[in-house]
Amino acid sequence: MIRTRFAPSPTGFLHIGGARTALFSWAYARRHSGQFILRIEDTDVARSTPEAVQAILDGMAWLDLGHDEGPFYQMRRMDRYKEVIQQMLAAGKAYYCYTTPEELDRLREEQRARGEKPRYDGRWRPEEGKALPATPEGVTPVVRFKNPRQGVVAWNDLVKGRIEFANEELDDLIIARGDGTPTYNFCVVVDDWDMRISHVIRGDDHVNNTPRQINILQALGAPVPEYAHLSMILGDDGQKLSKRHGAVSVMQYAEDGFLPEAVINYLARLGWSHGDDEVFSREQLVQWFDLDHITPSAAQFNTQKLLWLNAHYIKQADNGRLADLVAPMLAARGVTPAPVPTLEAIIALYKERVQTLVELTDACEGLYLAPAPAEELKAQHLTEETRPILADFLGRCAGVEWTTAAVGALIKEVVAAHGAKMPKLAMPLRLALTGQTQTPSVDAVVTLFDRATVMARIERLLG
Ligand code: GLU
Repeated sequence: MIRTRFAPSPTGFLHIGGARTALFSWAYARRHSGQFILRIEDTDVARSTPEAVQAILDGMAWLDLGHDEGPFYQMRRMDRYKEVIQQMLAAGKAYYCYTTPEELDRLREEQRARGEKPRYDGRWRPEEGKALPATPEGVTPVVRFKNPRQGVVAWNDLVKGRIEFANEELDDLIIARGDGTPTYNFCVVVDDWDMRISHVIRGDDHVNNTPRQINILQALGAPVPEYAHLSMILGDDGQKLSKRHGAVSVMQYAEDGFLPEAVINYLARLGWSHGDDEVFSREQLVQWFDLDHITPSAAQFNTQKLLWLNAHYIKQADNGRLADLVAPMLAARGVTPAPVPTLEAIIALYKERVQTLVELTDACEGLYLAPAPAEELKAQHLTEETRPILADFLGRCAGVEWTTAAVGALIKEVVAAHGAKMPKLAMPLRLALTGQTQTPSVDAVVTLFDRATVMARIERLLG
């Protein structure tokens, strides 16, 4: 059974890199009818917050990445980690180390002075025939893992290929601090073991932890999972993705008017590919996802591509659903929709031409509020030449059948009667109705409203 996990540390929001890791872990489990486990790595109590936990859960829910087990919280598993530490001590796989921080500092200084890499020298490591120092009074010991001294620790990374570390490069890791609390790498190992994780898919900032984790797993007699380390994500500018690049939090994308399926589709393509396919559904992703087609090189974020995908998914989306999403965004701006046009009617007309729900909300706001046009737009489009054309249209409004086709025909007729070109009427009409000149086809915009509203807005513009 394939079992994957997403193991975020709740120290901030769910960012794009984390979301991609979650997505790949989720998709791999789903692809193989396996299970996906959510684990909150909250042992860094100084930096973990309940708000950050909530932000992660919200982000996962928004992306609809459901887990089969969890969320597990490491802080609730302390007894279990301590139990395993005791077992390791009893089995001689770990040992107490009484070296004080001051002693360690001195040791490191000496090593540096000799041009060596600073590291713990194993002075409390029990070895056959070796006399240990006398146990000092008043020092609470840490527990260290007895890392193998010889050989290499290696794995076939499913993204990066074979990776190997010499054991002599790894010193004896502290697995429990003086106060008995277990350390990060140790908790991860016990969890991956207890949760029967078959595939660890995570960011490649953890590559250096992997040899230590494998050695501890082996000392415990636990199966070693497969590892897939994902390369980092770079911003549009090729620099490491950070807050400078704007929205890096998944929920910020929600606020910025992206649809979750667009973000999912986009993230799936960020470092993974399926031939030339750019647009695919969640179901197709689950059918196709594999680890073989993850690129080992860094993936570069491309906001234009995400916007393009979002526009695509907005066009595809059901109008009622879009209306439900736009309604609260409008409400947040203090705009109450009028009975006519309905949100759905506006959306049906505008969804083809927007890239985000924010733009869709802008369009709705413009139609409901009809703000007075900017002075220069008005000066440009409401001229001595166009005024009589608009007034003529107004005069003939009352008698026209109120359908898009009939209104469209009337517009053409009026324009022709004045020997003018279409924009001479279309532009001032747009300004009257929306305060803007950028709208869909003008006859369709006119008939979004009822006749009385259209006439009132034209009168208002004519002044
Ligand atoms: N908690 C780690 C992080 O947020 C992930 C650890 C892991 O996946 O093994 O970076």
